[in-house]
Amino acid sequence: MHGLSETFPLDEASIHLALEKVPAEDPARIRELLAKARAMQGLDDGDLPPLMAIQNPDLLSELFEAARWVKDQIYGNRIVLFAPLYVSNLCANECLYCAFRASNRGLTRRALDQAELAAEVGRLLEQGHKRLVLVAGEAYPKEGLDYILESIRTVYGVRHGNDNIRRVNVNIAPLDLADFRRLRDAEIGTYQLFQETYHRETYAQMHPRGLKADFDWRLGCMDRAMLAGIDDVGIGALFGLYDWRFELLAIMHHARHLEERFGCGPHTISMPRIEPAEGSATSDSPPHAVTDGDFKKLIAILRLAVPYTGLILSTRERPEVRREALQLGISQISAGSRTSPGGYEETDLEGGAQFSLGDHRSLDEVVRELSETGFIPSFCTSCYRMGRTGADFMDLAKPGEIKAHCQPNALATLQEYLDDHASDATRHAAKLMMAESLAGMEDPVRRLAEGMVNRVKDGERDVFC
Ligand code: SAM
Ligand code: SF4
Repeated sequence: MHGLSETFPLDEASIHLALEKVPAEDPARIRELLAKARAMQGLDDGDLPPLMAIQNPDLLSELFEAARWVKDQIYGNRIVLFAPLYVSNLCANECLYCAFRASNRGLTRRALDQAELAAEVGRLLEQGHKRLVLVAGEAYPKEGLDYILESIRTVYGVRHGNDNIRRVNVNIAPLDLADFRRLRDAEIGTYQLFQETYHRETYAQMHPRGLKADFDWRLGCMDRAMLAGIDDVGIGALFGLYDWRFELLAIMHHARHLEERFGCGPHTISMPRIEPAEGSATSDSPPHAVTDGDFKKLIAILRLAVPYTGLILSTRERPEVRREALQLGISQISAGSRTSPGGYEETDLEGGAQFSLGDHRSLDEVVRELSETGFIPSFCTSCYRMGRTGADFMDLAKPGEIKAHCQPNALATLQEYLDDHASDATRHAAKLMMAESLAGMEDPVRRLAEGMVNRVKDGERDVFC
């Protein structure tokens, strides 16, 4: 039994050992593993190194094919959309890869006041967003965590015509148990935090000063969050700092630890790759840069290893990488993003930003492309508002029952977007895709979806089940 002070006991040595024992590429063994993955029960530690080592193009195609199949079985063709909302770039830490780090004197620093924040939310609502992730550096104005809590209240409180933000996820520095309880009470969706690297020595090199220099404080963060009653947590690593194979196995260990301890693993996993950040030599040439080929491989393996965990891809990635990644198992993407506080109000895309983006397209363009390529862009925020979080969500997700909610919710929220925000070209593309999706659905889910879409067409808003 774990005590309150216990944390995730990361066993680096066992990961190194697993990575050392990779056998020569054995097609029969790899196909056995892919067949196992298609049972959608996940994969074990020892299963990952042979998959990570695949070089043969035919076997690689089979890996991608298996990932696509598992994704289709569990998520169908839905892709959830969100945007980051940077409230402050003040930071006392010294992460070598980040433009917000304290010693970067060139950066224009800013913490939005509540009126500025409300204006940002207005801009996001104008675009059509319903789901945000609130992001900040680790140094708040004098109010400390109260600043974040007030910001969350502000975000939920902004109204713009028919619209409001319906789910606020947060990505802020680790808290203690008492503060995590306060964050839980602010009705956040997911609490997200990336370990950056699970490799202790690299972590120490990359985080030389500030509170973030404490590797163990960060490592135990999700245990504290879940102990405090936050059901949905999102983990991840910043790819490029250390060997991606090591990070992938460590993420698996972390997920398994949370599942064993709390009866529910992470709600999402993110896999940001390092992008160029102003004044950061490390970000210009990451020590273990991950190639596009390896990046696709790691997404596909994650999809097979943790089939029921959402996988998030941000606008750090270029459109062509995002297109391919969607086929391999990504379930949520950001769109129309800015990574500076006040960025949605401003025209200067890079000023005060945390890193530069790979995808500059608007939300409307992304919705159009998703529709044209057969995906249903979804603005659904139903689960957490219906109390389907943590283990309750997983209990529905695992037997596939969650789909009966997701498809209708995706279509109803997309209809809302089309009526209130879309360009003519996007509306046209999405209508064709929606008709096809409905035609391919079976009753009673199709009837439910049609009914919900028609209610939205008749003027009702925020229709969900
Ligand atoms: N400041 C808090 C922290 O570091 O945990 C929370 C938010 S931080 C602004 C969000 C994430 O941005 C970090 O966890 C890191 O993974 C990512 N990040 C930082 N610099 C980056 C870069 N140059 N390229 C891509 N992602 C970066
Ligand atoms: Fe600060 Fe977070 Fe950037 Fe590190 S990654 S410098 S903690 S904002």
